Amino acid sequence: MRLRDAGCFIRGRLSVGLARALNARRRPERVAALPLETVLALRDPSVVDLARVLEGRGNAEREALVARYLSARGVVFETQRFNTFEGSGANYVIEVGAGDRVLVLIAHHDAVPGSPGANDNAAAVGILLKLLARTAAAPPRDLRVRLLFTAAEELGYLGARAYVRATELRGVAGVLSLELCGIGDSLALWDAPAETDLTRGFARAVEGLGYRRDETYHTVGRIPVFGSDHRAFADAGIPAHGLTVIPGDEAEGLRRFIFNPWRSVFRQLVHRPRPFDTYHTPRDRSDTLEPAALDRVGAALDALIRTF
Ligand SMILES: [Zn+2]
Repeated sequence: MRLRDAGCFIRGRLSVGLARALNARRRPERVAALPLETVLALRDPSVVDLARVLEGRGNAEREALVARYLSARGVVFETQRFNTFEGSGANYVIEVGAGDRVLVLIAHHDAVPGSPGANDNAAAVGILLKLLARTAAAPPRDLRVRLLFTAAEELGYLGARAYVRATELRGVAGVLSLELCGIGDSLALWDAPAETDLTRGFARAVEGLGYRRDETYHTVGRIPVFGSDHRAFADAGIPAHGLTVIPGDEAEGLRRFIFNPWRSVFRQLVHRPRPFDTYHTPRDRSDTLEPAALDRVGAALDALIRTF
């Protein structure tokens, strides 16, 4: 086991263990997950509808439901199963478009124990499922868009690390991992300490939509404590960043919270700015999701695919 894998493993175990212990003492909140059949009966379900299919369910069920949704919609996808001493699960891979360059967009389908896992990260799964329908209807001719639905992100990016180990990454020009994409009005690209083709492409795409740097979109450097699946790709030398929506009026509080490792580590105990007030808690329910925030991410990704 490489040292880096060991670090991810230990961190993941700590984070999940902490959530399990704290959430066991918190009052569970009732969530009414939508049956898959209800959503399949809709011709064009919303992102919130899609998120509600996964909300409040255990990880095995979440994983199975993503595959059942894709199959029922007639989507051709690859299932990549992994099984290591760290854990097991299934990643799903779908590719749309043509050409030599690949843009990988990731949403993990698992959640921490005791949290309904709506904003972290069923909302991101829903965003990518909607994006898939749009992109498949008009595939890009110069770019392959690869959607990756990973398992076990909460276990130190285990699914993404398994994917990176098993996959030829030649041609992958950029990777974005969607995390906490359902609350707020500003976009944040993070773990972006230096300019890359992807940070430039992202800036071009969102500025074309009217976003302004440091006002309505932010590019921030390497974040301590928090992380996401893109880090498995960054370790392989590929431009790879996280994408999150934040409330603009919390930007300063978020900066203080995220860049102070001690605040982040003891995040369960300190006042947490939105969207971290519900993160990894029983309050991460779909009724906290803001459709406008979800639409922002969808539109930004559409623009990125058009211009990258
Ligand atoms: Zn997450």
